This record gives sequence, structure tokens and C-alpha cells, in this order.
Amino acid sequence: MGAPKEIFLKDYKLPDYYFDSVDLNFSLGAEKTIVSSKIAVFPRVEGSSSPLVLDGQDLKLLSVRINSKELKEEDYRLDSRHLTLTSLPSGAFTLEILTETYPEKNTSLEGLYRSSGNFCTQCEAEGFRKITFYQDRPDIMAKYTCRIEADKSLYPVLLSNGNLIEQGDLEGNKHFALWEDPFKKPCYLFALVAGQLESRDDTFVTRSGRKVALRIWTPAQDVPKTAHAMYSLKAAMKWDEDVFGLEYDLDLFNIVAVPDFNMGAMENKSLNIFNSKLVLASPETASDADYAAILGVIGHEYFHNWTGNRVTCRDWFQLSLKEGLTVFRDQEFSSDMGSRPVKRISDVSRLRNYQFPQDAGPMAHPVRPHSYIKMDNFYTVTVYEKGAEVVRMYKTLLGSQGFRNGMDLYFKRHDGQAVTCEDFFAAMRDANNADFANFLLWYSQAGTPVVKVASSYNAEARTFSLKFSQEVPPTPGQPIKEPMFIPVAVGLLNSTGKEVPLSSVHHDGTLQSVANNGQPVYTTVLRVTKKEEEFVFSDVSERPIPSLLRGYSAPIRLETDLTDSDLFLLLAYDSDEFNRWEAGQVLARKLMLSLVADFQQNKPLVLNPKFVHGLRSILSDLSLDKEFVAKAITLPGEGEIMDMMEVADPDAVHAVRTFIRKQLAHELKAELLSTVENNRSTEEYVFDHPNLARRALKNIALAYLASLEDSRCTELVLNEYRSATNMTDQFAALAAIAQNPGKTRDDILADFYSKWQEDYLVVNKWFALQAMSDVPGNVENVRNLLSHPAFDLRNPNKVYSLIGGFCGSPVNFHAKDGSGYKFLGEIVMQLDKINPQVASRMVSAFSRFRRYDETRQNLAKAQLEKILATNGLSENVFEIASKSLA
Ligand code: ZN
Repeated sequence: MGAPKEIFLKDYKLPDYYFDSVDLNFSLGAEKTIVSSKIAVFPRVEGSSSPLVLDGQDLKLLSVRINSKELKEEDYRLDSRHLTLTSLPSGAFTLEILTETYPEKNTSLEGLYRSSGNFCTQCEAEGFRKITFYQDRPDIMAKYTCRIEADKSLYPVLLSNGNLIEQGDLEGNKHFALWEDPFKKPCYLFALVAGQLESRDDTFVTRSGRKVALRIWTPAQDVPKTAHAMYSLKAAMKWDEDVFGLEYDLDLFNIVAVPDFNMGAMENKSLNIFNSKLVLASPETASDADYAAILGVIGHEYFHNWTGNRVTCRDWFQLSLKEGLTVFRDQEFSSDMGSRPVKRISDVSRLRNYQFPQDAGPMAHPVRPHSYIKMDNFYTVTVYEKGAEVVRMYKTLLGSQGFRNGMDLYFKRHDGQAVTCEDFFAAMRDANNADFANFLLWYSQAGTPVVKVASSYNAEARTFSLKFSQEVPPTPGQPIKEPMFIPVAVGLLNSTGKEVPLSSVHHDGTLQSVANNGQPVYTTVLRVTKKEEEFVFSDVSERPIPSLLRGYSAPIRLETDLTDSDLFLLLAYDSDEFNRWEAGQVLARKLMLSLVADFQQNKPLVLNPKFVHGLRSILSDLSLDKEFVAKAITLPGEGEIMDMMEVADPDAVHAVRTFIRKQLAHELKAELLSTVENNRSTEEYVFDHPNLARRALKNIALAYLASLEDSRCTELVLNEYRSATNMTDQFAALAAIAQNPGKTRDDILADFYSKWQEDYLVVNKWFALQAMSDVPGNVENVRNLLSHPAFDLRNPNKVYSLIGGFCGSPVNFHAKDGSGYKFLGEIVMQLDKINPQVASRMVSAFSRFRRYDETRQNLAKAQLEKILATNGLSENVFEIASKSLA
């Protein structure tokens, strides 16, 4: 392999040739599949004499024909990555290519591969080139037909995109199906599935009266577990009509669940393919978190039909155009189906725990990256989650109707096209005549802006001033940044916690009225665009407490001058529930950081009684939403705290968090016990907001109580485990007990396995729980689990549970003796030979090694260097490992 090549956004060029139609023909065999493709090609510029360069990988070329005439060897060039055609006709022509591919040997799970004996495909981002030679780039959009031929008993079901137009039997116990997709699409949306599958069938009637057949395909025994997925699909179809006026555009929508899949799911046109963990659920085997994830991801893939498929990306740098937007859409969908504030809290936690660290590390990149070596490495929390925040800011600035108008214009202008992030921006701007200042910097500047706010009250003038200053930290390749356009939603509370109506704001020499036709307004969005900037509220009769960045109106780190008592007031009274939660989190982060300092100086740890009091009032306030309470009494994660330290100290952070949890459990024991008593499940499992909220609150109380390790609490948790009638309650009790090393833990883990050994999705939970454990020296246990009969390095879900789970445990992965790093290093080298995408995700756990002390740094660095020295290392792992070391 030559040195891996870096690809740059600035080098984008229009293709020299376009494809009009593609007719594919598959003769399926596990060892060897023959693919023929017939493409109608036309040059972009009439009379062009450019060569046509096709991508292709791991293929055997059998023949090439142009206008039915077979090419001789001197008419093309073939290397391990390309087929280059030179002497071409001057106008349009027909290209026919015959190739061989080897599905059984394909462990990378991209292109055509086998999963549990069935065939399936995965083409995004660049997997289609493993199926046939093609211009594998999203701006080549064509109409497809796909004919599949296979053994009838082994592969009774044959699926591809679009409509089934013909099927029949062939000689030798074979059969065929011919599919036609009427919509133009890029090849990354192509899909084929063949195998022994059964379906749950339903129908959805669109608002214009189109009757759509819905089918969810799985192996026969799993069909009963697809009810929730079907419910989610129908809810998503309805929601997109109600909220965005978007209807489904074909008569058939298929979802297939497969156990071997690198990612969560894939939005192939009318044939979504899902990781089975995001489809299959029953109350006994799946938790509330699984049910919620299924709802969100079924929605996500369905929503891609418009945001991604009908309007797609010009090139892969624009990935956030479809992903940021579609994540935003699925977040909104889930909000509407459950609790909006709680969904917002979960999404922001996710951003803070995963995206902020990425934005502050060696892999930091803008929402629209400037370059990549392997596109697979850029399906990141930055492109997805920060990208969704960017879309959310348009809505914050424009309001619901303005945002909807922007969406309508986007589809009106670009349906059927492959476009860029600027096109989306322009639609939002033009539909609203909006002034977006330097908003586009959100797509090009990496790093999380740090915004400081200083407030002051002038009693005489009755004014309240907020002075903002912002700084965007340097990131790789971007040492100097410009100030960003940051929408800051603000409200004011008086000293008794009541909202103050806002009258007007003075800014940049102009006075702007906030009031809305005499209607009182309690929240206004300030447009912060400069490095330093002041906003002055007028007619404020007493010193207010500002509630800043309501609903988390921008993806920034906010530093305020709020005192602890201001924060306690916000925690108790803010009408913005997100900020109520946030006030508690700010207090908790402060507390944890100060205790970490105490711990490092060997001072005794003491918990601030005011904090305990604040949480006690939340816990005993029966008027609050229970899921909100569960979130409000959850401490910030260890990663979040480490992220705020000069040098991350996993042992100290872990000790402090454990201390606070225990102390809280001790002080709030009575309240926690009654919380458990009053929130037990009584009826059958129902996945709806009131029920899942009750379970969430009960189970967090249980986890606190288990940390006390007293016999009464242990007995209580054991009882919850034994009497549980659903996976949410059963697994929560198991996890609570598993915190504490000892015989009880070992017995109940063994019991759980023997109960569920037949269900691979439940077994994955069992792997993950043990892998993430803080029990000292856990690396040995995880090593042993590698040879457990249920483990398999070729299955991504198992790797994510066991290896990914382990890397998420601060104490064991970062063990000071380097045992955790050594373990990961070995695994990455093994995995890379099997599945580079999965290996590359795992090696990312090293990427922030410079955050730790020197001993740890050296140990991690040694592993990264060893990985980089491996012969035949994939480009995927090379990119992450080399950038981490840079
Ligand atoms: Zn997506």
C-alpha cells in the first residue's frame, strides 16, 4: 500500500461523465457472486475526450463492453482501486461490465456480504465499489433496476430498492426477482437483501390517500419482536406529514433487520437495513432505552427519504447536510412523542460527553470537514450531533414557521439534486429574508466556542446589562478563529423566582422592543456576533437572576458569574426546564471539581449540605415530571468532569463521584426508599411517557440505594431483580448490584446469563455491563470474556459491547499499569484484519491520550506507535492513530 491519500473539499470537481440509468444483474452465490451492470453514460460536456475513471475494490473484472463491443486490454487500465477507460466514443454510450465478488470472505461488512446465512449490502459511504466498478460518488444520480437470481430454497426472499415488477422460477431450483426504483439515486443508497426472512406487514395511508405497504423483515422467530418498530414507523410517517408536510413517495417500504452491521441503520431507498438491536424489542428482552432508541432511529432512517434521498449530498464533505438535519428531525420527533425537556437534556448530555471531547482533541473537525483520508472516519458526533445543533439554531433564530418556510423552499429548489450546506443555508435565508451574519462559520470552524457572560444591575437606571465575550479554541489546522454568530435565549427571574416580563434591549446603539403587541414576553434571543458585546435590558425594577442559553440555544461552553444562590434559585424556579436541570448540573460540576482538588491533596471529602438539600427538594417535589427528576438527580458523567480538568485524573474523578453518590444515598435514604416503593410497576409493560418516567425514577433511586452496600438495600435490589417482569427493571436491578464486587454480584450475573443465553441481544447487554465495570483489575475479566462461547470478534455489536464498553470505564481502561491500553492495542491489531471500520472506532479510545498524566501518556503512545507500525494497516486505523499522535 502506498501512503494513504488525503482528500480535500477544495479539490471538488464536477464529474466528466454522468450516468442516466443502471441495470444490475446479480447471480448470487456465497463463495462467488457474478454482477453484471449496464450503464447509460453521457459526457458532461459534449465531445469530451476525458477518460472515465471507475472505482472498484476487491473485484475480479471479467469483461467490459462499450456499445456492445468488448474492450481489449489496451483500451483500459486496471489497478487495485480503479478501472480507467480511455478510448471512448464522443457522445453518449452504453457501458457493460461483468465482475465477480466474494461475499463469504467479506468480513468488512461493506459491499455485498453475508449475515447469518443471508445476503445483504452496505454501500454508504463507499461500499458500492466493492459490488461493481462505478463512479462511486453521491453526485452521480441514476435510475436503477436490479435483477436478482438465486437458489430458491436457500434464498426465498429477494429484495432491492423500489417496486417489484417481475418475479419467477428458473431452472435448477432457482428463482429471480426484478426491482425497479423510479427515483434517481446515488449508488450509496443502493441495497439488496436475499435470504430466509419473514415479515410483519402493515399499511399506512398517506394524507393524499396513497396506500403504502409496510414490511419489517427478520428471521421467522423474531417477527413477534417487530411490533414496536412497526408502531414507530407509522408514527414517523404521520409526524413527517404533520410537521413538515412530507409524504412517502412509493407504494412499498421495507425494513430488514440484520445481526451483523457496522452502524445503527441505513436509509437505502425504500429498503432500510437495520442493525437488529435497533429493530427487535419485547418487554422481556428490551429496555426503555432500547425502545426509545428504536423509535428515534426508525424515525431517523425514514426521515432520510426526504432529507438525504430526495435531496442528497454533492460530495461526502457535505455529510452533515443530510445527517445534521435528519438527527435534528429525529430529535424533534422523539420530543413530540415523549417529553420535550427531557429529550433536550439527553441530547445535550450526549453532546457534552462525546462531542465536546472530540472538538477539543486531535480529531477535531468542522461540521463540514475540510479533508479526510477515509470518509468512514467522519461519521462522527460532530457531523451528526453538532450538525443537528446547527440546524436547531436556524429554528431558534427563525421560529417554527420561518424554519418550515425554509424547509419548503429547500425542497422546492433542490428535489432530485445533490447539493451543499450553502444551499440549505441559502434556502433558510431566502425564505425568511434573514440576516444570518457570519452564521456559515458554524460549518467551517471546529472547536467549541467558550462564551463568558458578566452581568450587572443599575438600580438608578433600572437597567440590567449582560456583557458577552467569546473565544473559539484552536484546533488542528485552525490556530486562529473568528467570532461566531451565537443565538443566546435569555429570560430574567426576580428574587422570588418569578419570570420578569421583558420590555426592551439596548444593543449597538439601538433600542429594540421585545414585547409582542402588548403581550408579555419572557424569553428573547440575543444575537451575539462579536468578540465582545453588551446587551442592556431596560425597565428592570430589581436585580434579576438571568436564565441564560435557555433550551441550550447554541452548542457552546457557557461561563457565567452566577453565584451558588442564583443557581439554587434557578434550580428551584426556572420556567425553562432545561435550565432548571442545567443549574443543578453547574452546581454539581463545581462541587465535583472542588472535591477532586481536595482528593488530590489528600484532604477529607465533605459534601455541601446545600447541594443535598437542593436535590432533596427536587426528589420530593411530586409536581415534577418523574423522568425530569431522574435526570436532575443524576450527576454529570466522569468524562464530563475529566474534560474540564487541566490534566484528567480518572482515579480522582471516579473516587469523588462514587463518594458523592454514596453520601447522597446515605442522606436521602428515606426519600429514595419511598421513591422505590411508590414507583413500582404494577400493570403490564407499556412504553409511554408516564410509565417509562416512573421506571426511570424508581431505577435511579435503586442504583443510589445499592451503592450503600448495606444488607437491607442489597436485599431490596435483589427482590427487584427477582420480581421484575420487564427488561428495564430487571437490568436496572442487575446493574445496581453489579456495582459492588462480591459473591452476590457473581451469582446474579451468572443467573442472568443462564436466563438469557439464547438471546444474543440480551447477552450483549450482559457483556457490556461487565466490560464497563469499575471493579478493580477488570481487564482480566474482559480478557476472559473474549473466549466466552457467545463472543465473536467478527460481530460489531459484540465488539462494541465488550471492547467499547471496557474503553468507557475510566478506571480500568486508564489503569495506571497500562494493562487497559495494552489490551486495546492488541484487539485493534486483530480487529483491523477483520473489519477496519470497527477497528478504527475502537482505536479512537486512544485519541485523547494527551489529556492524561505523563505515565499514562507514554503507555498509550507506545500502543499507538505499535499499531502504526503494523504491516498492512488499514487506512481507517492509520488515519485515527496517526492524527492522534500528531
Ligand atoms: Zn442518518
